[in-house]
Amino acid sequence: MTSEERLPDFYGRYVFDDRVQRQRLPKSVYKALRQTIESGSPLSPDVAETVAAAMKDWALEHGATHYCHWFQPMTGFTAEKHDSFLKPTSDGGALMEFSGRALSQGEPDASSFPSGGLRATFEARGYTAWDPTSPAFIRRSAEGSTLTIPTAFCSWTGEALDKKTPLLRSCQAVSASAVRMLHLLGVTQASRVTSNAGAEQEYFLIDAELYAERPDLMASGRTLFGARPYKGQEFDDHYFGRISQRVLRYMRELEHELWLLGIPVRTRHNEVAPTQFELAPEYQSITVSADQNMLTMDLMQEVAERHGLRCLLHCKPYANLNGSGKHVNWSLSDDLGHNLFDPGSTPQDNRVFMVFLTAILRGVDQHQDLLRAAIASAGNDHRLGANEAPPAILSVFVGAQLEEVVNSIIERRAPEAMGGERLKLGVTALPDLPRDISDRNRTSPFAFTGNKFEFRAVSSDQSIAYPATFLNLIMAESLDRLADAIEQRGGPSVENIQAVVRESLEAHRRILFSGDNYSQAWRDEAATRGLLNRPSTPEALQDWCSEANIALYERHGVFTASEAVSRSHVEHEIYCAKINVEAIATRDIAMTMILPAAMEHQKRLAESIVALSQADPQADTSAQREVLALSTRAITELKHAVDALLHAQAAVEASDEDPIHKAPRYRDEILPAMVQIREHADLLERLVDDALWPLPKYREMLDVH
Ligand code: ADP
Ligand code: MG
Repeated sequence: MTSEERLPDFYGRYVFDDRVQRQRLPKSVYKALRQTIESGSPLSPDVAETVAAAMKDWALEHGATHYCHWFQPMTGFTAEKHDSFLKPTSDGGALMEFSGRALSQGEPDASSFPSGGLRATFEARGYTAWDPTSPAFIRRSAEGSTLTIPTAFCSWTGEALDKKTPLLRSCQAVSASAVRMLHLLGVTQASRVTSNAGAEQEYFLIDAELYAERPDLMASGRTLFGARPYKGQEFDDHYFGRISQRVLRYMRELEHELWLLGIPVRTRHNEVAPTQFELAPEYQSITVSADQNMLTMDLMQEVAERHGLRCLLHCKPYANLNGSGKHVNWSLSDDLGHNLFDPGSTPQDNRVFMVFLTAILRGVDQHQDLLRAAIASAGNDHRLGANEAPPAILSVFVGAQLEEVVNSIIERRAPEAMGGERLKLGVTALPDLPRDISDRNRTSPFAFTGNKFEFRAVSSDQSIAYPATFLNLIMAESLDRLADAIEQRGGPSVENIQAVVRESLEAHRRILFSGDNYSQAWRDEAATRGLLNRPSTPEALQDWCSEANIALYERHGVFTASEAVSRSHVEHEIYCAKINVEAIATRDIAMTMILPAAMEHQKRLAESIVALSQADPQADTSAQREVLALSTRAITELKHAVDALLHAQAAVEASDEDPIHKAPRYRDEILPAMVQIREHADLLERLVDDALWPLPKYREMLDVH
C-alpha cells in the first residue's frame, strides 16, 4: 500500500461511481442511467451497451482481465462467477469484449445454491441481473483484477433466489408508503424516500498460527471447547483502550483497501472483549450499505491473512465473553433532503417526525416476530441474552425525553420538561428536542439515537439484507395503516392526525422500554406486557410464513408466497447444518485430540504412582492419586458424553423429517449433548499437563500483541 498518497486522491479509485460515470458516459446515457438509479425506470438495451463499453475501458485501464456478476444467494455469503473479456477472432487472434447484454444479465446456472425447493418446481437455472443502484467495482488480487458487478439473482420465472432482490423491493415499498404519507401531511413536493443504513461491524482477531490449531474455529467459526481465561473482560481494560501496533497496521491497511473501493469507513476502536474490535462506515443508501458490508467482511478476512491474523466474524466465538454484533443504524430520508426521523425544529418537521416515530413503534410492536426472525441464526442464539448482548425480546428505547412526549400525547397533557423548563406541545405535535438527549441505553435491541434507529440485535456475521428488508417492510405497512386511519377520519386535519397518532401510541406503548434489558426483571415484565420472547431460532422462525405474514409480504411486493416458504426452508436448513457441523467437530476433537491427551496424562500419573511406590513403599502418593481419580472420572464421563452425542446424532439423522421439524431436535437433542462434552473437556483442560494440551487455550488466543 502506498501510504504517501493522500486520501482524497485515491478514495474510490476502483469504483465505477457517479464521478466516473459522468466523466466517461455521453451526457444522454449518463442521464438515463441516473434516472434508472434514482427512480428505478427500466434501462434500454442501447444505454446498457454504452455503459458496458465505458465500464470495460475503465476496467481494462485498471488491469482487469475478467468481469463477474456478484450476488448474494440465500447462503448469507456472496457468490461470483468470472468470465474473461476474451473474444477470439476468426483469424486466431483475440479481442476484449463486454456487451450490454453481458452487463445486464448473467447465467451462472448455480443450481447448487439453496433454493428452499423453489427450483425443484421450476427450472434449475438461475439468472443474475445487473443492479445499477449499486456501483460496479474492481476486486484486485495478486492473481489479477476483476470487474465486479453487483447483481440480483433469480430463477427464470423471476422468483428471487437471493437476499438482494427482496431488499430492493422493500426499498420501493417503503418509498411508496412514505411518499403517500408525506403527501397526506402536506409535503407534496416529495417524490421518493430512501432508506439509509450505516452498519457498525464488530469482529475478533486471532493469530493465524493459533487459529490453524483450532479445528473448531476453522469448521464452525466458534470455539467448541475452552476453559475460561484467567482474565477476561472484567476490568474493561480493552474497551476503547490503546490499539496495539500490530492491530493498527492491520486496520490501516484494511481502511486503505476499503477507501480504494469507496467504502467510507470512519471509525475504529477496541471493543469490550479482549481482541475484539469495531469498525464503522458512514451511512449510505441501504442497498449500497448492504453490498459494501458484504465486501467489507470479505476484505476484513483477506487483509487479516496478510498480517498473520485471522478475522473472526462469528457472533459468539468465545463462550463467556461478549459476542460481536452489527448495529444497523437505519433512517429514511426524502428527496428534498429531510431525514424523516429528525425531530427537527419546525412544527412541520415535528408533525412528520411524530407520525414516522409512531409508525415505527407500531411496526416493531406489531411485527416483533418478523424482526426477531430477521436476526435468527444458530450463532445468534448463543449471543442474544448472553453477556452484554441484547435479549431475544424486542423493545424500543427512545430516551426519557421522547418517552415523556409519547406519554403526554397519550395522556392528553403537556409534557414535563426534562431540564426544568416546560416543553411546548403545539397542536402540530412535538416540542423542539435537543439532539443527543437519548442517554444511549446500550442494553436495548432497538434504540433511537438522535435521528436514526439502531437495530443492535443483528449478528456480526450476517448480511444486513434481511434486517433491512423487514425494517422497510414493517415501516411501509405501518405508514399505510396510519394513512388509512387518517383518511377514514376524513382527511389530514391536525385533529385527525393527532387522534390517529394518539390511538396508535396508546396501542403500542408496551414496546417502549428504557430500563436494563439484560435483567431478569425485564424478562418478567415483558411477559406481563405480552411481548414475544423467542430465545432460539426454531421458535424465532415459526411465523416466517404465517398466513398473516404472507399476506403482508404480498401486499408490499417483498416476497411471493412461494419465496417466503422457500426462505423459511433455507433458514431452517442452515440452522440444522450448522449445528450438525459443530456436533461432528465436537465429537471428533473430543475423541482424537482431547481424550488422547487426557489419557496420556492419566497414564503418566499412574506410572508415576507405581514408580514412586517402588522407590519408596512409604511415599505419599495421595496427590497423584487424587488428580488421577479426578482425571479418570472426567475421562470416563467425557467418553460417555461422546457416546450420547453419537447416539443423538444418529437418531436425528436417521429421521426423514424436513429441516423445519428437525430444527427443534437439533436444539433439544444435539446442542445439550455438545454442552455436556464441553463441560468434561473444559474440566480436563484444568487438570491435564499444559504441555500435553492439544488445543491453544483461551488465554493464548485472546492476545494478539
Ligand atoms: P454511535 O454513537 O452509535 O457510534 P455514530 O454517529 O458513530 O453513532 O454512528 C454510527 C453509525 O450510524 C455510522 O455508520 C453513521 O454513519 C450512522 N448514521 C449516522 N446518521 C445516520 C442516519 N441518519 N441514518 C442512518 N445511519 C446513520
Ligand atoms: Mg452505535
